[in-house]
Amino acid sequence: MIKFSGKSVYKGIAVGPAAVLKNHDFQVKREKIEDAEAEIQRVEEAVEKAQEQLVMLYDKAVKEVGEASAAIFEVHQMMLEDEDYRDSVCNMIRTEQVNAEYAVAVTGDNFSEMFAGMDDDYMKARAADIKDISNRLVRCLCGEENMDFGSMEPSVIIAEDLSPSETVQMDKEKILAFVTVHGSTNSHTAILARMMNIPALIGVPMNLEEIHNGQTVIVDGLKSEVIFDPEEEKRREAEAKIQEEKEKLELLQTLKGKENVTLSGRKIHIYANIGSVSDVAYVMENDAGGIGLFRSEFLYLGKEDFPTEEEQFQAYKQVAQMMAGKKVIIRTLDIGADKQADYFHLGNEENPALGYRAIRICLKQTDIFKVQLRALMRAAAYGNISIMYPMITSTEEVRRIFEIVKEVQKELDEIQVPYKVPEQGIMIETPAAVMISDELAELVDFFSIGTNDLTQYTLAIDRQNEKLDDFYNPHHKAILKMIRMVTENAHKCGKWAGICGELGADLELTEEFLKMGLDELSVSPSMVLKVRKAVRESRV
Ligand code: PEP
Ligand code: MG
Repeated sequence: MIKFSGKSVYKGIAVGPAAVLKNHDFQVKREKIEDAEAEIQRVEEAVEKAQEQLVMLYDKAVKEVGEASAAIFEVHQMMLEDEDYRDSVCNMIRTEQVNAEYAVAVTGDNFSEMFAGMDDDYMKARAADIKDISNRLVRCLCGEENMDFGSMEPSVIIAEDLSPSETVQMDKEKILAFVTVHGSTNSHTAILARMMNIPALIGVPMNLEEIHNGQTVIVDGLKSEVIFDPEEEKRREAEAKIQEEKEKLELLQTLKGKENVTLSGRKIHIYANIGSVSDVAYVMENDAGGIGLFRSEFLYLGKEDFPTEEEQFQAYKQVAQMMAGKKVIIRTLDIGADKQADYFHLGNEENPALGYRAIRICLKQTDIFKVQLRALMRAAAYGNISIMYPMITSTEEVRRIFEIVKEVQKELDEIQVPYKVPEQGIMIETPAAVMISDELAELVDFFSIGTNDLTQYTLAIDRQNEKLDDFYNPHHKAILKMIRMVTENAHKCGKWAGICGELGADLELTEEFLKMGLDELSVSPSMVLKVRKAVRESRV
């Protein structure tokens, strides 16, 4: 039995087999080999294995996201058969007498660089594909099974770190818990774990080399510990706790259908945060009154290219229709910082959290922004959609956004498709927006306070930096004063204000938020009923 402590991001408990997700940046070593033909035979076998994985991935993707999005796995199959690529690998093995892993990795880098340097955007985008198939081949050569969620039994995912795009691609039904060596509790991966209701521990000082697939693991988010190969007694204890948690959850179920009202009659909206269309199931399961934050950028992550207007329209429309008239607040693209997609070619920045991200990209690259706005406004004709803009710092930005919205409106009028200009609000997540919230309130329909970034920017603490978790204090008086100020300024103009950052689900503050007069709290679906319980027990 081996025990480690870590930082808990979702306080649940799970027991199950480990599934080790090895780092993608393989340390491929150059090795001298004797038998080049045997090495080439290894490449052939790896290609065959990779092809089998791609066929399975294609079938899974067709079922889950449709044929158009699944097509990329067909492209990968074709690329694996590309003669130039295969010849280059074999040639390097023969002439330089090097191992297959090295030849594949170097060929992958060379081809990828060549594609990245092309003028044609389509060919440019193939650079990432070449990297992807080369990584897959190296993994096959190393004998590492690709994480095959199709046939995998529900498991505890063990990894060095997980990026938001890796996390969104996982099959949520197959994940019992996450345990990672790195990561900060305020990262989007942690937020995703909370959203998915999955016990998760980060900052666990384990050695992935010593953990193997199938090893039994207990992840205890309540005690912030993970135990590998537990003794029978520990396992029984954990299973009893899981049962206890299940019963507590069942008790919460009795609150479904009940109002979010305090003992003295004050009401508040409790909505849920989502990142994908499939998350709507959690929203319904937990009886949220609406969706207070749909992080639309997750539609852009884990993809090879921009989602089209049609793809986005279908996603937004589907969510609006499923929510059947309940409010659905969709935030426009908040890409950048830890949420990266290669095809944006954002480049490296010294301070990405303070960099070219979110609304700044949309205001500079209005073609990208307009595609999303068109999709949103068209979808708004099918339900109760509101649009929300992230990372606002000035009234000029809001005015410019409204000009662009007007242009889009004109374009939609010209092609005569049904659309609606919905309610439009902004996120308050920069200290600048807080300080001018009186002026901003005159321009927009609502405020939603993004306490994750507001804490980062106010306390000058990088939310991604795991060393700073102990300093990251969203209970800081400055943050609470800001929330009060923003709410008061919204109300003075007859507008509503809510919180959609993680602090909204902090049960120690529910009473305080009610006292401040907040109109809405948007929390991860798993927290909806817990916050409802806190509201219903409050005397405010
Ligand atoms: C926030 O900053 O509080 C927020 C809700 O947005 P995100 O966490 O996606 O940056
Ligand atoms: Mg934010």
